[in-house]
Amino acid sequence: MADTLPIRLVIHGGAGAITRSRLTVEREQAYTQALAQSLAAGYAVLEAGGSSVDAVIAAIGVMEDSPLFNAGRGAVFSHAGRNELEASIMEGSTLMAGAVAAVTTIRNPIRAAHAVMTKSAHVMLIGEGAEAFAAEQGLEIVDPSYFYTQYRWDQLQKAIAKEHVLRDHDAGPTTSLPDRDEKRGTVGAVALDRYGNLAAGTSTGGLTNKRFGRVGDSPLIGAGTYADNRSIAVSATGTGEMFIRTLAAFNTAAQVRLQHAPIAEAADNVLAEIAAIGGDGGLIVLDATGNYAMRFNTSGMYRGAIGNDGIARLGIFPGAETPVTCLPASAP
Ligand code: ASP
Repeated sequence: MADTLPIRLVIHGGAGAITRSRLTVEREQAYTQALAQSLAAGYAVLEAGGSSVDAVIAAIGVMEDSPLFNAGRGAVFSHAGRNELEASIMEGSTLMAGAVAAVTTIRNPIRAAHAVMTKSAHVMLIGEGAEAFAAEQGLEIVDPSYFYTQYRWDQLQKAIAKEHVLRDHDAGPTTSLPDRDEKRGTVGAVALDRYGNLAAGTSTGGLTNKRFGRVGDSPLIGAGTYADNRSIAVSATGTGEMFIRTLAAFNTAAQVRLQHAPIAEAADNVLAEIAAIGGDGGLIVLDATGNYAMRFNTSGMYRGAIGNDGIARLGIFPGAETPVTCLPASAP
């Protein structure tokens, strides 16, 4: 019997200075394949009648396990040479939410965020406490070296070197953020299940060379993630501080719920607010009827969407997404 109830999954793998000249053909293919695998994993959950929350976890889990994205396995390094991970998740039917920040040993931070949402009385746990809680919940704990990748380590060395140059020309201790290019990224997913429930999740390693326990927007409910069945599910990526200051995810949802703004327009309004204070990035947005938007004001955003027709639509650069009919059978 044909499934008439809408199901939908939309993902992003970070926005930023992603240009054709910077991305080799091999890397573009690798990203495209990883995005397709993430969509396949989340879509399989929705198709089998699973919840939007579980679809978000499955889709993000694939990207966390890939060294390509700045989340989980491929996370960037902080100034101290650690991978300090953050994630959050929210369920649109109950407004339940969970988040973790500053964790260094949890293989899949999105699962830890989910455990906080479902197994604790809290919304956010950080650092060692979050790690102890995740271990108690039976989540996979790994040695921090699991997150080591040479590519990210080299990025850190470059960022540190640049900071030294900056300091030479700038009196006083440097607290400047790394430049915007490839030093950030984040993954996120929004989903609609056949029961009409929305969910959103986001996971990141934050910024290369971040210091002093810096936490971005990704684990903050309302800034990097929001889901409310009355409006939309949202996941953000971009210059975290500006997304926090504009409460980007909630701001988008509020425009849809209270001002009845079309979803793409609401996202563009928020990105314009962010641009006005010197930030940039992207938002993926999904409503309870399955309408979605993937908006960004950077040169690129890794992104993809899939719905009842089972056709994945993938994109990196501006312009229409490319349909991909042949989804990989299973996640790696
Ligand atoms: N929003 C993330 C952060 O500020 C980074 C990103 O999405 O590129 O930590």
